[in-house]
Amino acid sequence: MYRGYIAPHVRFRCVLCGECCKRYWIPITHADVIRISKYTGLDPLSFVTFFRKEMTTGWDYPEIKLSDGEYYMILAKRPDGSCIFNKYIGDKLICSIHPVKPYVCRFYPFIYWIEDDVVKFEILDKAIGYCPGLGRGPYYSFEVELRAVQEIRRAKEEYRMIVNKWNKLVERGVVKGTPEEFIRYMLNIAEEISKKMEENQSTNSY
Ligand code: SF4
Ligand code: SF4
Repeated sequence: MYRGYIAPHVRFRCVLCGECCKRYWIPITHADVIRISKYTGLDPLSFVTFFRKEMTTGWDYPEIKLSDGEYYMILAKRPDGSCIFNKYIGDKLICSIHPVKPYVCRFYPFIYWIEDDVVKFEILDKAIGYCPGLGRGPYYSFEVELRAVQEIRRAKEEYRMIVNKWNKLVERGVVKGTPEEFIRYMLNIAEEISKKMEENQSTNSY
């Protein structure tokens, strides 16, 4: 748990324009993939893709070694740039997986970081003048985001462990390093890693 949080005093209500879904690549973890797959019934291969590390400025997600370089796992997009899970309802572009959307989607148009055990929120610079929801509705409470911070931290730790194990297999030539192999491996060991984390946490709490 954290000692507290600091957040901007700002009005925000999402107007469902879907612009942020078109603008950004969405990095995901194993936990995102499992949640989305259970909710939609879709095979992860139909909505997961990989983005070359060199094409980014570096993200706070582990780099996956594949046969031809390092990648981040992301959500697939359509040719018009919209997310594979965007859906039109009238003129509104909504998220069709809202209850299980990836961690990163839960924060826009804000960012957060943790300093001295305090969660600090800020408006994302690039969202100012771009996200039409900023400045609308009531003052924003950040309750949803605060709950998500703890969940994300745990998911990212697990995901890092999975990717580290996978990367060693690639380095040793045990696997070929295809995207399909990575997804299968990740889903196979996700439960084992989660149990290991729980055991470590209960050991540390004695
Ligand atoms: S750009 Fe802002 S208003 Fe539009 S969908 Fe994203 S969060 Fe909502
Ligand atoms: S998962 Fe939902 S919120 Fe996230 S980019 Fe896709 S449509 Fe937008």
